[in-house]
Amino acid sequence: MRIDILTVVPELLESPFNHSILKRAQDKGLAEIKVHNLREYSTSKHNRVDDYAFGGCAGMVMQIEPIERAINMLKAERHYDEVIFTSPDGETFNQPMANALSMTENLIILCGHYKGIDYRIREHLITKEISIGDYVLTGGELAAAIISDAIVRLIPGAISDEQSALSDSFQDNLLAPPVYTRPADYNGWKVPDVLLSGNHKAIAEWEHEQSVKRTKQLRPDLLK
Ligand code: SAH
Repeated sequence: MRIDILTVVPELLESPFNHSILKRAQDKGLAEIKVHNLREYSTSKHNRVDDYAFGGCAGMVMQIEPIERAINMLKAERHYDEVIFTSPDGETFNQPMANALSMTENLIILCGHYKGIDYRIREHLITKEISIGDYVLTGGELAAAIISDAIVRLIPGAISDEQSALSDSFQDNLLAPPVYTRPADYNGWKVPDVLLSGNHKAIAEWEHEQSVKRTKQLRPDLLK
């Protein structure tokens, strides 16, 4: 799949996609993530992308033209399944949304900045608005990185053991069971015996029990 991210601060996205699983997914050709600097689509003298808000409210607003030009240029090259805008008033991002988006081919993610973007962009060009939670960030870049990360790790082959993505928290509406590694006894802190038993059926049952127990304790809302 391909994700095109539109931003006025591309520097903010230099690191998240260049390491670990996201980098490997790109190296393996499973995902292509392109970051575009919206200033390059400005037609104004100083590559302006924002202007004062009508109505006199404080803060700058991102202009329509550079964004529309960038989106049109991308759309001329391929079909996009969604044109996403990151926004605190969007639908709250969750695992089912990540699952659905991971099955698409091409996505555009537009990052807002300053006071936000001219509302007409949202009315005419955006197909989906996503919030990463009820708090306000300075820009949509970190939200775009989070959304892309959650999507790309779900592409078959991105994580070495496919099971491991399926057994994560929120798949099946259950939180993940605890995990342990060596040493089995760290100064008296012991790993549960069942995990050392070699009995795969007993281990699977224990893990499921733990998942249910932890979900009841920590996120009973998921069990409804
Ligand atoms: N004035 C806006 C907030 C602007 S914050 C409001 O009150 O709704 C600047 C940009 O950061 C937003 O346009 C959006 O793209 C991004 N952003 C901020 N918080 C976010 C969140 N919780 N989820 C996704 N994007 C967010």
